[in-house]
Amino acid sequence: TPTATRDLLLSRIRDVVDHPSPGIVFKDITPLLADPEAFTALTGTFAELCVRFGATKIVGLEARGFILAAPVAVSAGVGFIPVRKAGKLPGATLRQAYELEYGTAEIEVHAEDLAAGDRVLVIDDVLATGGTAEASLELVRRAGAEVVGVAVLMELGFLGGRARLESALKGAPLEAV
Ligand code: AMP
Repeated sequence: TPTATRDLLLSRIRDVVDHPSPGIVFKDITPLLADPEAFTALTGTFAELCVRFGATKIVGLEARGFILAAPVAVSAGVGFIPVRKAGKLPGATLRQAYELEYGTAEIEVHAEDLAAGDRVLVIDDVLATGGTAEASLELVRRAGAEVVGVAVLMELGFLGGRARLESALKGAPLEAV
């Protein structure tokens, strides 16, 4: 990403201290979404990755990943596939559990949305511990599709998400703006 674009995008992310609980610095992307120049720049950046990686489908992670991934899918001319928290999708799903700091969580994808031959770019806003992204890569592979990359707006490096994702990436690139 060109430095000027990167600076613009990062300047539109607001740090909210102690949200949703004490000690967390929440990365709020709503200022970026409200700025058409920034939102368009981000969509363009992700769409370029989609082309460069030869992605044929885009997976967005609930909920902010949906907002970022959907316009990229339209712009790149590929399908958008939602990965949701368990219990939301109405059709037959694949479900994947993953570890949180306290307890576990589960995400799902419609089984019919991904198949062998699909080349998938996974998009989310923030990579924190990497647990959500790791589980989403599992889902994509269990569906028979190939992961060609993961793209996030921002990576919280101190949480070690990149290291946690490394084996699940199997050589596919992880790109932060
Ligand atoms: P993780 O599974 O720990 O990588 O968490 C990633 C998910 O939680 C992403 O979907 C993010 O939207 C959200 N998330 C985690 N930490 C933060 C944070 N500090 N600011 C904003 N979103 C976060």
